[in-house]
Amino acid sequence: MKKTIIGVFILNIFILSCSSQISSKNFGDDTENNTFNNNTTMPDISSPDYLDALDEKYPYLAINLSAFKVTDKDSPLSSATAEDNINSRVITVGEKEHILKAIDIMRFALNTPEFKEEYDNDTYYQFRSSRDYNGTERSIKQFELFDKNIVWAILTNAKITTYILKENIGSTANAIGTHGPSFYTSINLENPVVEGDKNDNWIVQDLLIGLPNTVLWNDSSKLYGDEYELASIIFHELIHNLGFNHHTRDFDTADTMEDLFYTVVSKKSWQNKYKDEIENFKYYRTKYEDFLLEDTKPIN
Ligand SMILES: [Zn+2]
Repeated sequence: MKKTIIGVFILNIFILSCSSQISSKNFGDDTENNTFNNNTTMPDISSPDYLDALDEKYPYLAINLSAFKVTDKDSPLSSATAEDNINSRVITVGEKEHILKAIDIMRFALNTPEFKEEYDNDTYYQFRSSRDYNGTERSIKQFELFDKNIVWAILTNAKITTYILKENIGSTANAIGTHGPSFYTSINLENPVVEGDKNDNWIVQDLLIGLPNTVLWNDSSKLYGDEYELASIIFHELIHNLGFNHHTRDFDTADTMEDLFYTVVSKKSWQNKYKDEIENFKYYRTKYEDFLLEDTKPIN
């Protein structure tokens, strides 16, 4: 049910733009064996090199955040109380810390071999383009399957900058994302660069991940309170930031990616195996510690 709601909102704000051309099949995974670092010793958080050390140990999905933003809107819930409306207009330090932890989990998970193993499972080979795209490196036709190696190259090299928005989305369980640059058709596999914070092709230019203003995001009794669920939702939206849309229920890149991600992180065996590492992986909570100094108030 969660995914259906997410889908509806995304379709509403998406306009497609990007594009593609010859699917490059020669992106090898020759570096794969060296990529996953089996050394479980965590860098020391008090070291000035902590973030650099984490970047080296967990290189995939090194995204950036520009800010948290909140709009000056009442909660859309018909039952909203005065307190709900106050909460809808602020992102508390506790909410921000919870989001940053979820993003930490997201990045950590992408750097575990279990994610790649699940990604390589043919069950998930369902990423189809929703229309024709032409780009500088390749093109792709509507309904054609994305090349899985190219999608993987985008994921692992993603260094885009996005922001987290609390908005009047009108549901307790959804999130929105913007359609980012057409990385699929523009990425050069020999020199993969997946950076940027704008989508020049759409009216909402800044890349963003939006979550509703109807709940406190760190409310443990609600959907977003579960850090693994939240990480999955944010990952879904990040897939949109990276330029992938919904297509059909059967061939839907964002939903498929979310399913894949949640399958990995929701396993108790995975959570237990990495318990200490996850606990000590505080990349975003450290890098953006200034975001946690005070609540975020409306922009206007
Ligand atoms: Zn979506």
